[in-house]
Amino acid sequence: ATENIALITLFGAAGDLAHRKLYPSLFKLYQKGYLAEHFALLGTSRREKTDEEFQALVADSVKDIPETKNGEAAAFTKHFFYQAHDVTKPEHYAVLKERLAKLDKQFGTQGNRLFYMSVAPQFFGTIAMNIKKQNLLTDEGYNRLIMEKPFGRDFASAKALNDELSQTFNENQIFRIDHYLGKEMVQNIQALRFGNTIIESLWNNRYIDNIQVTLSEKLGVEERAGYYDNSGALRDMVQNHIMQVVAQLAMEQPVSFTDSDVRVEKIKALRSLRVYTPSEAASNFVRGQYAAGDNTPAYRDADGVPSDSSTETFVAAKLLFDNYRWSGVPFYVRTGKKLADKFTRIDVVFRKPLIDIFANPRMVSEQSLKSNVLTIYVEPESGFALRVNAKSAGQGFKTEPVDLKFLQSADEKKEAPEPYERLFHDALEGNHTNFASWAEIAYAWKFVDVVRKLWDIEEPQFPNYAPGSMGPAASDELLARDGRAWIYKL
Ligand code: NAD
Repeated sequence: ATENIALITLFGAAGDLAHRKLYPSLFKLYQKGYLAEHFALLGTSRREKTDEEFQALVADSVKDIPETKNGEAAAFTKHFFYQAHDVTKPEHYAVLKERLAKLDKQFGTQGNRLFYMSVAPQFFGTIAMNIKKQNLLTDEGYNRLIMEKPFGRDFASAKALNDELSQTFNENQIFRIDHYLGKEMVQNIQALRFGNTIIESLWNNRYIDNIQVTLSEKLGVEERAGYYDNSGALRDMVQNHIMQVVAQLAMEQPVSFTDSDVRVEKIKALRSLRVYTPSEAASNFVRGQYAAGDNTPAYRDADGVPSDSSTETFVAAKLLFDNYRWSGVPFYVRTGKKLADKFTRIDVVFRKPLIDIFANPRMVSEQSLKSNVLTIYVEPESGFALRVNAKSAGQGFKTEPVDLKFLQSADEKKEAPEPYERLFHDALEGNHTNFASWAEIAYAWKFVDVVRKLWDIEEPQFPNYAPGSMGPAASDELLARDGRAWIYKL
């Protein structure tokens, strides 16, 4: 592994995300040698803490990761330092500046600065602004910004935020985290498509009937109620994760597998996504909110949720791309809480043969051919399956669908890096492939805004689905109307 040389400034160092995801990811990178002598992290949050207290907090966060050599975790935590800091107080940044200058010398980080904003989104703009005003940037190495979601709550607020960020950082310095892009099988979409003639040559409206994307959660809103009720599934899942997955499925082949070439194609794909009129949005989008059941209260009765909340916990939609490759091929997407199971999968449904010679009335078989389906299992399993029709063994002639299936073994899965580890590493390397660009985010918001506006005006009939189901009946009807059905059903 090549060592990445960097001085990381983490805003929100005492937060939940830092503790659960960021420190463990950095430790894994350290174990693999991607981080070594020349890295340090300056953590900040409001409360006073000594460096030693902070190092103990980091040690606690990585305690379940087995060491590869003795004393590894202790050596790792020696790279962590702490500064109490209020992001809204400009004068506090002066202290950061001094400490960063010292750490840069001490660890020989060559002026490479990576700022990570893991704080509430209302602070994103303020922090970026102060980084520039109080001169935390260097002229020697690189200046990069990693930021958490959400990126705005509609196009207007996202644009305002982006305008603020761009006063300090240019697009090539900003890494917007969408952790779905860090998942093994989401990254594998490109390998499957562009590494296989038998797949990419069929990847168009001549051979594909429809594509289905399901991001299903089993849990309800739990302790994030306050945030979630203000957001809803459309903003929390569709605008970012689903749009990013769909863009990878729909994009044209990039000239090369570099971040700039991939970006161009994802942006083009999202540009050709049809933005609905309000009445089209009404017929192509379905929303839902879960009722009581399974020994758990309804969404509206959860702690922290207003009893008359009309926030959606489920969305299903039909998306259309107006381009040569996809004209006429619907992309059906759905996501929700309190569904049957926790999983993410993509089902690519191919057209049936134009003529079914086995449906000849003189043959014994009464079955008709099933559609070929390429299923990409994103999680919890990683792998894919191709459903093909074959003759069932035995006398007579019947066809039956069989699966050609590849699933990663438990060992391979254990070895696979977590999304945050991959994404951290990508940002350290300056690779944007698995981050969302501003243009992608802008198109996604413009698409979603129409729906949001419509839903904000019309009062929904909630609750409308049972926990443990796959959402409201209208989600099935969305496909039934087109003579289709969800491939994954209960
Ligand atoms: P958190 O509330 O646990 O932590 C927030 C941190 O910000 C704390 O360290 C707090 O001290 C600090 N902070 C708050 N106000 C401050 C101020 N004025 N000055 C300095 N520091 C201040 O939040 P979190 O769950 O860690 O989330 C952080 C970010 O990550 C958010 O943008 C969130 O949307 C995003 N995110 C979190 C998760 C998750 O699983 N926790 C998942 C996806 C995205």
